Amino acid sequence: MFKKVLIANRGEIALRVIRTCKEMGISTVAVYSKADKESLHVRFADEAVCIGPASSAESYLSITKIMAAVEITNADAVHPGYGFLSENADFAEVCEEYGVKFIGPSASMIRSMGDKITAKETMIKAKVPVVPGSDGAVKNVKEGIKSANEIGYPVILKATAGGGGKGMRIVYSDEEFEDQLSKAQVEAAASFGNDMMYMEKYIEEPRHIEIQIIGDQHGQVVHLSERDCSIQRRHQKLVEESPSPFMDDKLREKMGKAAIKAGKSINYEGAGTVEFLVDKNRNFYFMEMNTRIQVEHPVTEEVINRDLIKEQIKVAAGEKLSGQNYYPVMHSIECRINAEDPYHNFRPSPGHITSFHSAKGHGVRVDTHVYAGYTVPPYYDSMIAKLICKAETREECIKKMSRALDEFIIEGIKTTIPFHQQLMKDERFKSGNVTTKFMDDFELK
Ligand code: ADP
Repeated sequence: MFKKVLIANRGEIALRVIRTCKEMGISTVAVYSKADKESLHVRFADEAVCIGPASSAESYLSITKIMAAVEITNADAVHPGYGFLSENADFAEVCEEYGVKFIGPSASMIRSMGDKITAKETMIKAKVPVVPGSDGAVKNVKEGIKSANEIGYPVILKATAGGGGKGMRIVYSDEEFEDQLSKAQVEAAASFGNDMMYMEKYIEEPRHIEIQIIGDQHGQVVHLSERDCSIQRRHQKLVEESPSPFMDDKLREKMGKAAIKAGKSINYEGAGTVEFLVDKNRNFYFMEMNTRIQVEHPVTEEVINRDLIKEQIKVAAGEKLSGQNYYPVMHSIECRINAEDPYHNFRPSPGHITSFHSAKGHGVRVDTHVYAGYTVPPYYDSMIAKLICKAETREECIKKMSRALDEFIIEGIKTTIPFHQQLMKDERFKSGNVTTKFMDDFELK
């Protein structure tokens, strides 16, 4: 087992990893930017190294600085969390060369899933159903229009390097193709430094259902059932749950098998998520694979009763999986609490937290790095806490979440709590009959 793990991340996920390491008797090293000096991940790690100024490019995204921190602290493994360098194949490669274990897949596995066109090609070869789309990148407007007609409108233009819902545009006709392509390219270039686009059939009113998998170094891949992430705003997840209210045993078996096939086709090692769109006829299509732990992993932890970070660390250290799949025995929902103003188009609301009272009680979990007196910096992701509830049924879980939201008090900044409070009382949400279009006609009162 590892002796010392450096966490190349910040915020709640860094703290989340530190907690598990402590329980496993592993020493921890936090890295932080100057803007994060007061964050709890810095306080609770055994050691902490400042790696630069607030700007992510000069701190959390700097491979050189993180490797320097590895060297001075003598860490023997690195946990990348999510975001930042977690899906950066070059970083995984530098770790491999340096002889420090990257807790996650190898550089080549990340590469085979990192670029979405390559990922889809890999899945087609592995006979996993994918969203019908263009062969490779969209080269220019003329060829793009031609292939949009072959696929059939509506189509969705997506950045090959995409993430976080950015660089996506839906196109309904030839006339608007050029305009939407250039808008998507501008956004992709700004977000990913790469404006390469591909095209897919736009699946109307689908659900976003993903399968958590884990693979070991001995060729075993198992699935840990699904998460439903259909409640999204601008293609970004707001609420996740497990099991999916749409799921039945037959579909779970089929999607689980497809996800394992996806993982095995690249000899996957570590925790990963295979994302699918599911249409109303229960057809499912591979969208992408995330080769890291995800924000929403706690709902899976709650329903299968396993610590996924611990499982990640164990397989990274070479332990064998038992070979069994895991099925939900509870219901769990996660609400992302963001420092955003839901009454003003979810605009960011960083600043000083004057008071903070966490929700508590049976079946309630809060993962957060913030506290009263903490100042949310404006430089990073706006998520400041995850409120996770579990109960025996979905109905009870929604009631519990509603109760927990009512007692979760954060003052000094605006948060998405009022949005979640209304959502938990929404009849459509309560019915479970939701798609990724849900937010289009949701009005905050
Ligand atoms: P990102 O990597 O930016 O998160 P994804 O490929 O995971 O992008 O897609 C994010 C969301 O965008 C999906 O959950 C879904 O709501 C929507 N989406 C993506 N592709 C399609 C498609 N072909 N048809 C309909 N919706 C889509």
